[in-house]
Amino acid sequence: MGKPTGFMEYERQSQRERDPLERTKDWNDYTAPMTEEEIKQQGARCMDCGIPTCHHGSEINGVTTGCPVYHLIPEWNDLVYQGQWKEALVREHEKNNFPEFTGTACPAPCEGACVLGINEPPVAIRTVERSIIEKGFDEGWVVPEPPEKRTGKKVAVIGSGPAGLAAAAQLNKAGHWVTVFERNDRVGGLLTYGIPEMKLPYAMVERRVELLKAEGITFITNTEVGRDYPVQKLEKEFDSTILCGGATVHRDIQAEGRELKGIHYAMDFLHANTKSLLDSNHEDGNFLSAEGKNVIVIGGGDTGTDCLATSIRHNCKSLTQFDIYDKKGSIRDALGNPWPQYPVVHRIEYGQKEAASKYGDDPRAYAVQTTKFVGDENGHIKEVHTVNVKLRIGENGERIRDAIPGTEKAWPADLVLLAIGFSGPEQGLIEQMNIETNQNSTVKAEYGKYTTNKEGVFSAGDMRRGQSLIVWAINEGREAARECDRYLMGATVLP
Ligand SMILES: Cc1cc2nc3c(=O)[nH]c(=O)nc-3n(C[C@H](O)[C@H](O)[C@H](O)COP(=O)(O)OP(=O)(O)OC[C@H]3O[C@@H](n4cnc5c(N)ncnc54)[C@H](O)[C@@H]3O)c2cc1C
Ligand code: SF4
Repeated sequence: MGKPTGFMEYERQSQRERDPLERTKDWNDYTAPMTEEEIKQQGARCMDCGIPTCHHGSEINGVTTGCPVYHLIPEWNDLVYQGQWKEALVREHEKNNFPEFTGTACPAPCEGACVLGINEPPVAIRTVERSIIEKGFDEGWVVPEPPEKRTGKKVAVIGSGPAGLAAAAQLNKAGHWVTVFERNDRVGGLLTYGIPEMKLPYAMVERRVELLKAEGITFITNTEVGRDYPVQKLEKEFDSTILCGGATVHRDIQAEGRELKGIHYAMDFLHANTKSLLDSNHEDGNFLSAEGKNVIVIGGGDTGTDCLATSIRHNCKSLTQFDIYDKKGSIRDALGNPWPQYPVVHRIEYGQKEAASKYGDDPRAYAVQTTKFVGDENGHIKEVHTVNVKLRIGENGERIRDAIPGTEKAWPADLVLLAIGFSGPEQGLIEQMNIETNQNSTVKAEYGKYTTNKEGVFSAGDMRRGQSLIVWAINEGREAARECDRYLMGATVLP
């Protein structure tokens, strides 16, 4: 339980960060290390809650609360406080194959559900989580653990994002021969080619993938199943398949001038940037540069923030981020958004901090809707026109945004990045395999079961769930592996 009086003695200290302006000069991890003593104090803030709400993941009003992988949070907080780091690491790995990914980039719904958070800053759970696994790596405690016996069964995992990696790790533990197919040149899915280097370094993904390889998992990259590797071959060579292809179909904006040059999907910008950085430290020039440009990022979420941080490192001229929502309050609404729901509050993420340090202000404009794009004589974007909107709920519960007269504005723009999310998975492989889908185009497979309409074919992560979080992808990958193991062996010991 940590220290009984810890929450009264120590202030919350979440992951320390490097100076915002200084860190924009490189692509290294934007966070800074903390001392063991500091982390112990954070563990000590954990109270002896009767029912710890932090470690049980569920959804309230469609938003995650608590930890979706059911991390044993109070146990490892206590162990860290007692200095028993190795035992804490064992507890962490019990529920999560990759605590370094969640410890780095999870939005921490656990902290929103922390009991201390009712009237005090919650326990810095994610910071403790990351420190445990990093100490584990530093001390050499994280080593390959190949299974003692092999079952002789062969499983194909399509997609190497967190869902595919978690499924592969669990199935390999159960003794099956696992092959992971990835169409990109590097493994990791959006961990590698979505979230940028300074937020989640590729070295962190590579370090884990090397362990998985040493445990016996085969990775085949540059191979798109359904294009470079026929579905018939897949069905012949493997006893079972888990589809973890993500949800990568972009949402678009329907507005006049959308066809102009200089308007790009955020993912094209982020993917090319990371690839060129990892391939050649940007020397090959195979990326979309924001240097010297007036950049407009449309979308107020994680992807938009990653576009800000990337554009700053390119040395853009100016930076603006449009958010369709109103600016949120600094504390959660006790009636509309009570504990333990995920707090819907104003946050200043790493990209916004960096923008403020370099350009003097938070780059966000709130409740802004794009009305049209205007180009120059060469067909290149020159201006983005917007109007401010007010949200109201219609008669049938639908969300309607009314334009506020007199708030029309034109913003100078040389580069526009669309970061308004994803509509669902690509349909090519799904159609080739005759897999049934839901109305929103995700793979039809019940949560907890993961079985598709096709025998022996399972699905997990964003491909099944729709655009979501790393922690849900890991949860689903683990559970789909359990169901796949049950299908192959008739029973399972996987959690
Ligand atoms: C820019 C960005 C930032 C984000 N930041 C965060 C964050 O900070 N925290 C957080 O929790 N979540 C974040 N997310 C969401 C998170 O990354 C995803 O929810 C998560 O990666 C989903 O995992 P997945 O394994 O289901 O799919 P993905 O990570 O999308 O991986 C799917 C993989 O399958 C491969 N694939 C698809 N079809 C085939 C095929 N036919 N053959 C071979 N390979 C195939 C794809 O190339 C891809 O590599 C972010 C998302 C984006 C886009
Ligand atoms: S994985 Fe996410 S929700 Fe779970 S303990 Fe870590 S930060 Fe919290």
